[in-house]
Amino acid sequence: MSNPVWNLSTLYLRKISFEYIITTCLINYRIKMSDTLLLNADGAPVSFLPLSTLNWQDAIKYMVLDKASVLAWHEDWIVRSARWETPVPSILMLHEYMKPKTTIRFSKGNVFLRDNYTCAYCEKSLSKKDCTLDHVVPSSHGGKTTFENTVCACGTCNANKGNNKKIRPKFKPYKPDFYELVNKRKRMPFNIRHNEWLDYLGV
Ligand SMILES: [Zn+2]
Repeated sequence: MSNPVWNLSTLYLRKISFEYIITTCLINYRIKMSDTLLLNADGAPVSFLPLSTLNWQDAIKYMVLDKASVLAWHEDWIVRSARWETPVPSILMLHEYMKPKTTIRFSKGNVFLRDNYTCAYCEKSLSKKDCTLDHVVPSSHGGKTTFENTVCACGTCNANKGNNKKIRPKFKPYKPDFYELVNKRKRMPFNIRHNEWLDYLGV
C-alpha cells in the first residue's frame, strides 16, 4: 500500500461533485474496494445500488476537504506521510445533501435482483454466481436485451430452453421500480467492512 499524497493545493483544486461521488462509488463497487461507507446528509447511504463506499484515499480527501464528517474510524488503521498521520474513516456523512438518482439502468445484476436470484423456469433459488441471463424471446428470434425480455435462469433451464421461444417463464418480466430493487437489495447480505455500518443500512 503506497503512502497518500498530501498535496493539499491539488486536493483543493479538485471539485468533488455528485457525479464524482457516484462515479467513485461505482468504481469502488466494481473493484470491490469498500473501506469507508459514505452517507448522505440525512444519514442514509448515498446509494444502495451499489452501496456507496469509498476507498481509503478518497475517504481522506473528503475529510481534508471538509466535505463530510467522520462518524466512525477504523481502529488500528493509521496512514502516514512524512509530515503527518491520520486514522482512516470507516463512516463518513456528507455535509451537503445530494439528491439521489432514482433511475434504474438495465443490468444483469438488476435482473437477478428483481427475480430474487431465483430461476424463472424451475423456481430454484440460486447463488449469485449460478445465475444466468435468459432471453425469453431468444436473441436469434429478435428478442431484445431489456428488462421486459430477460429473466434470471439456472444454467440447466437456460441450456434446455435454447432457442425455443415457446418455453415461457413463470411470470411476465417487467421493468422494476427503483424502490423495489432497493428494498430487495436491503434483504441481501452486504459485504461490510465494519459492523457499525449495519446501523446505517436500515437492514
Ligand atoms: Zn431452472
